[in-house]
Amino acid sequence: MVTSRSSVLSGTPVVPGIVLAPVHVVRTEVDPVALEAFERRGFASPEEALAAYEAAATAVADGYARRAEKASGAAASVLSASAGLARDKGLRVAVEKHLRAGDSLVASVVAAVEQFATLFSGMGGLMAERITDLRDIERRVLAHLAGEPEPGVDVPEGRCVLVAADLAPSDTAALDSARVVALVAERGGPTSHTAIIARQLGIPCLVGVAGATAIAAGTPVLVDGQAGTVDLDPGPDAAASADTDLSRRQAVAAWTGPGSTADGHPVPLLANVADGSSARDAAAAGQVEGVGLFRTELCFLDRREEPTVAEQADVYAEVLTPFAGRGHVVVRTLDAGSDKPIAFATHEGEENPALGVRGLRLAADNPGLLERQLDAIAIAAERTGADTWVMAPMVATVQEAADFAALVRARGLKPGVMIEVPAAALMAHRMLEVVDFLSIGTNDLTQYAMAADRLATDLAHLTDPWQPAVLQLIAITAEAGRRAGKPVGICGEAAADPLLAPVLVGLGITSLSMAPAAVPAVGARLESVTAGLCDEAAEAALGALSPQQGREAVTKILG
Ligand code: PEP
Ligand code: MG
Repeated sequence: MVTSRSSVLSGTPVVPGIVLAPVHVVRTEVDPVALEAFERRGFASPEEALAAYEAAATAVADGYARRAEKASGAAASVLSASAGLARDKGLRVAVEKHLRAGDSLVASVVAAVEQFATLFSGMGGLMAERITDLRDIERRVLAHLAGEPEPGVDVPEGRCVLVAADLAPSDTAALDSARVVALVAERGGPTSHTAIIARQLGIPCLVGVAGATAIAAGTPVLVDGQAGTVDLDPGPDAAASADTDLSRRQAVAAWTGPGSTADGHPVPLLANVADGSSARDAAAAGQVEGVGLFRTELCFLDRREEPTVAEQADVYAEVLTPFAGRGHVVVRTLDAGSDKPIAFATHEGEENPALGVRGLRLAADNPGLLERQLDAIAIAAERTGADTWVMAPMVATVQEAADFAALVRARGLKPGVMIEVPAAALMAHRMLEVVDFLSIGTNDLTQYAMAADRLATDLAHLTDPWQPAVLQLIAITAEAGRRAGKPVGICGEAAADPLLAPVLVGLGITSLSMAPAAVPAVGARLESVTAGLCDEAAEAALGALSPQQGREAVTKILG
């Protein structure tokens, strides 16, 4: 999308910050001439061709694993996942099938990857995001076969804005934020790998920027990760904006917590975690006051059978232990289904899984699954002594919340529910009659309020939590919490947006939970504004007619 100034490209802002630097466009195709030469050589038999595929796939997987060892956090996890995918037996079987049907090895690899990409795309959500990983494996395997160096990001000397159609984990995991100062991708949504890695590196990032790869290499551009713009003709004031951003970055680096506004209104900043390792990292960084979202389903994505209660208790205890005596931990029961299919829980073959039997809805015909998980959480809570809150995902009615709360209370734990469905937001006041807290999942709340798939790149302008309709639902929920005197936090990606944080506080949100890497930027922003300014910002954002108008109005108020 090109805005009114033709020299400005726009996209979805993912990580805020302003930088001025020359563009480096990443092109990662395998040399077609080398590939053709390889094709002409051919193989004596399908077995020989398959052996060549296995050798190439193993080399690629080993490469990922080596890079995973050198990386940390989210980067290490995505690289390990790619190593697993490169070794995948299903992929090998698909290649073999095409070879036996008489296809060449290159054609077989391309067809097998295509087959998997279609499969992942049909699953939607997080699985669809893995198509980028598949394509990366494809080009690396082809490069190995053709005897070419593996393609990748070859960052030039000096600072640059890295621009690509899409970035695979292997492209971004080893990036040095001293040289690559911003990421701009044509594809990918706010939860794509590009976004995850940019958040970890703390560099400005935009996704869904149409036409970005057509920018001539070396063009100096001003990237604004908050406004969502890439200015190709930055003008004389650009350096000054980038300098102002430097002082913002210094404030972020100096922030130590705890979360509060400039005039001392406390806003606990909490961590979103996926397992024991991310919980330990979050606790060790010492900036968060607890865990606002432990996504338990992420521990079991690769499990075919339901883990026993004892096994689950061990997994949950790993997350609770680092926070025992250091604030509460909100454990979310399995949010299986839709973008997170889990073999032992999810219903197969749903027409529209995002609106299907996911999250708490799974308990209707499989109550034992939920009860065993709650037993395991209770055991882990008892064992570790951590202040354990438990919440259910995908709640739509007060009756569901009441039934869930009874099961949680029976185990001596504190019950809450997520507000992800607009119906639940509208009934927040009644929800709070039966539970002790609410946590707004803005990723799904936005998707359902705007009727727009949260991962669809071409709908990123709708799946934006700055949409006034979404802010209205947040306001209704927060007001219900204020009246009931009960906490209402946010644990969706919206909590990680430093410009939105004061708006959310002004709306009455009591805590913000996010990827730990995002905490200092949010903390520094809150520390720079008074509670009164947060109220003003909230009013302005609610009164805006579009996300862009809201961002502009709030920027004017907060400076
Ligand atoms: C959300 O929907 O905002 C949320 C936090 O849950 P998830 O992203 O895991 O669906
Ligand atoms: Mg959700």
